[in-house]
Amino acid sequence: MKNKKLIIANWKMNPTNLKEVGHLLSSLKRDIKKTEKTEVIICPPFVYLPQVKDSGFTLGAQNCFWEDKGAYTGEVSAAMLKDLGCEYVLVGHSERKKYFQETDEMVNKKLKIILKNRLKPILCVGEETRDTFSSEGMPTNEMSLIIGEQIEKALIDVSSAKMKEIVIAYEPIWAISNNTGIPCLPDDAMKAALFIRKILNKLYNRTIAEKAKILYGGSVNSQNVIDYIKEARMDGVLVGSASLNANEFAKIVEKVIELE
Ligand code: PEP
Repeated sequence: MKNKKLIIANWKMNPTNLKEVGHLLSSLKRDIKKTEKTEVIICPPFVYLPQVKDSGFTLGAQNCFWEDKGAYTGEVSAAMLKDLGCEYVLVGHSERKKYFQETDEMVNKKLKIILKNRLKPILCVGEETRDTFSSEGMPTNEMSLIIGEQIEKALIDVSSAKMKEIVIAYEPIWAISNNTGIPCLPDDAMKAALFIRKILNKLYNRTIAEKAKILYGGSVNSQNVIDYIKEARMDGVLVGSASLNANEFAKIVEKVIELE
């Protein structure tokens, strides 16, 4: 569905045990309504994927490796994720870049293997500091360079047919709750999304640029989610810490459903 809003839960390296996962999932199952116009995607740590799958939510992974199989100790392939029932895979998250030195070239390789396995990549892009927006809230040249380069490098050798499968998450790194925790102004998020569409127009064409699903991520909660969906006209949200609180996450979903 064209206007379907995506609400993605990125559990990161949480919860700490199966019992807590069980509690979280049963509350989410009880409190979240399934609707035509919203899709709730849960991205748990790999070890909890089967449990989340059994809960009936759309399954996403937080990462994958760029080879199909082989001697890559500790890694998980896109084919394995597909086989487990995943539909989406996060790629390019700032925490992967910060703690595991992932580069834009690695992001590109991962994105291509995700697509090859008929999974949908959620490509995360974003600038590190708030001052890459000008005082008028326009993306500065520096910001344009950072985000432009992240997108262009991630999409090297990705055809327009494949581009249709990709979701882009604009995640200003400074706005992520573990960093400043100050959410991006909805107006700034909207300008960043417009800027991303301009890049897609340059790399592909106008239809792809207009139709691309662009989400916002960074300290989203039940109080501000509507500002991003309605005011900033984002196609959904990527939720980190608030997705670990069943009550709060269910409220976020409810607010989006109320807009239908
Ligand atoms: C994230 O890191 O993807 C994220 C959106 O985190 P938070 O919602 O906690 O800011």
